[in-house]
Amino acid sequence: MWDKIAKFINDYDSFLITTHVNPDGDAIGSEMALKSFLEDLDKDVVVVNSNPTPHNLTFLDPEGEIKVFPYDVKKEVLEDVDAFFIVDVNNSEHLGNLARPLENSTQPRVCIDHHQGAEENFADVSVNDTSAAATGLLIYDLIRAMGGDITRAIADAVYAALITDTGTFRFSNTDVRAFRTAAELCEHGVKPYDMHRLVFASKSWGAGRLLGPVLGTVETTGEGRLAWIHVTQKMMKDAGAVYDDTDGFVDLVRAIRNVELVLFFKEVPDGKVKVSLRSNGRVNAFAVAEGFGGGGHKMASGMKVEGPMDSAMKKVVAVCEQLDEIKNPPGQ
Ligand code: 5GP
Ligand code: MN
Repeated sequence: MWDKIAKFINDYDSFLITTHVNPDGDAIGSEMALKSFLEDLDKDVVVVNSNPTPHNLTFLDPEGEIKVFPYDVKKEVLEDVDAFFIVDVNNSEHLGNLARPLENSTQPRVCIDHHQGAEENFADVSVNDTSAAATGLLIYDLIRAMGGDITRAIADAVYAALITDTGTFRFSNTDVRAFRTAAELCEHGVKPYDMHRLVFASKSWGAGRLLGPVLGTVETTGEGRLAWIHVTQKMMKDAGAVYDDTDGFVDLVRAIRNVELVLFFKEVPDGKVKVSLRSNGRVNAFAVAEGFGGGGHKMASGMKVEGPMDSAMKKVVAVCEQLDEIKNPPGQ
């Protein structure tokens, strides 16, 4: 499975690694693990993303080496590398600011990802393993397959990827492979409690102040099987919070009994509305998101819709309340 990518790594000297917009722990963890590995092979590596690294993940990039395009780097940086690695994303639209320059580039590209619905001809070489709980697991497999050392930096990065995408081994993608890899990573020095504190328990006071107002927006239909919350730019400003501070809010609503699907509507600065969808298993969140031009996984997906907030919520809720799993209780 890794032969083609191993050849790709051997054939080139300099790489640019990128990932999806608003990178999460799997995105940053995968990038940094891959970066460390390639540098151990004496390759030149630059990591360029569309958005800054969220505060809780900056520990994975202690030297601040991840660049944000176009703010920190010019287009030339993309032109100067031999080849691209695209991780944790498999479609152009979700590449954000990098989409256009990558589209116009001529260098070969590899995609390593675990999302459903890969775009056709997205990369020259693709490993798209939707059974992997996190892209970080795939990066770990690649490094192992190529006989690389699992350094502490690599172990921490892969572990951060793993706990992000499995919700610390709670989500439905948690499997033997996830636990086995986690155990191996611990053998390489990972401290689970420290990693948990860094990734999930380092919230800002802005996040603390925003939680109440956001949970207060909850609305439901279908006897509570569909629930939705929202946050506006004004609410964030009033709480002294930023977009990333809303991380994890949606899971609190998903944890309520009988909820089948949660929608979290987030007003973003361009006036559009980002929607996070979380299912408890019966609803295919991916299918809903795909219908609005988004994507993700069956249990967790996302998309962007036109604003303003009210019409965005009306439009998406109207579609979701027609789903059989929302109209009918389980077993009917
Ligand atoms: P989140 O709601 O946490 O932003 O994203 C949940 C999942 O859906 C992640 O796997 C993420 O990559 C995917 N996702 C979120 N927004 C979009 C989008 O606009 N397009 C696509 N294709 N996937 C998305
Ligand atoms: Mn992922």
